[in-house]
Amino acid sequence: MRCSNGVKFSSGVLNPYGNIELSPSSGVLNYGQGLFEGLKAYRKEGSSGFLLFRPEENALRMKMGAERMCMPSPSVDQFIHAVKETVLANKRWVPPQGKGSLYIRPLLIGSGPILGLAPAPDYMFMVYAAPVGTYFKEGLAPINLVIDDTVHRATPGGTGGVKTITNYAPVLKAQAQAKSKGFTDVLYLDSVNKKYLEEASSCNIFILKGNVISTPATMGTILPGITRKSIIEIARDHGYQVEERLVPVEELIDADEVFCTGTAVVVAPVSSITYQGQRFQYKTGAETVSQKLYKMLTAIQMGLEEDKKSWTVEI
Ligand code: PMP
Repeated sequence: MRCSNGVKFSSGVLNPYGNIELSPSSGVLNYGQGLFEGLKAYRKEGSSGFLLFRPEENALRMKMGAERMCMPSPSVDQFIHAVKETVLANKRWVPPQGKGSLYIRPLLIGSGPILGLAPAPDYMFMVYAAPVGTYFKEGLAPINLVIDDTVHRATPGGTGGVKTITNYAPVLKAQAQAKSKGFTDVLYLDSVNKKYLEEASSCNIFILKGNVISTPATMGTILPGITRKSIIEIARDHGYQVEERLVPVEELIDADEVFCTGTAVVVAPVSSITYQGQRFQYKTGAETVSQKLYKMLTAIQMGLEEDKKSWTVEI
């Protein structure tokens, strides 16, 4: 789908997966004008159909990001239509239930040429898909995080709150170093005080103490995750007190449970967090709140339970 010298995208076409042609002076290659989204299609329990989870939220988040990055964006209807068409064209690649899902990647780029620093004249919106199993190699097994307080994902006034491609290369080094030391991922702190939790490289974080679940307030530096928003609602519906606020790193010392949320990771229990050489450990396993929340969320996503909130879109 393309948008040239204007704000409206034309309707798109389905093409076999392959390379695209880009000018070396395109806005995306030179100035990073690019945004992406991630969502999953599951096979629906007891039907030949597929379920998308809250695709409108992804479309709206892309719109918000496009505004920040001076880009036009497809309408919500165009976004959802393109996602549905992509799933239908890739039906045979959707794994059986319980074995994974079809991961769908909408991508919006400044494709037109621009030499001086300015928004690109033309844009492309693409959607591609790939079957996926579980995200972390440990699967649903607990993950281990390390806090690297020398690297930050985002700064106030920056782009941490939108899903721009330029947020991701800067975390690759910290992530690679953490992996080489046996950790699953890095947990970032805020860049001003270096004391408040933000998020991991591609997921949001929650901590549980007693009956209270806390998660960092988004405040422009953290990606407003769709899984995060859904888990907050599910947890509140089930009687947990959920606080969105500044969460100081010291609260990791005596938290009962910690978990990460995201489209790719779904709900991933965290078994330990290492900070300044100290390792804090958390409860994991079948009896945990994170496991309960995982089950409740995936039951809706896979159509195992009635979708009372109309979060899913059937294809
Ligand atoms: N934070 C970051 C930095 C991410 O890349 C993602 C993945 N989109 C998330 C959080 C989780 O967001 P969502 O639940 O919408 O996938």
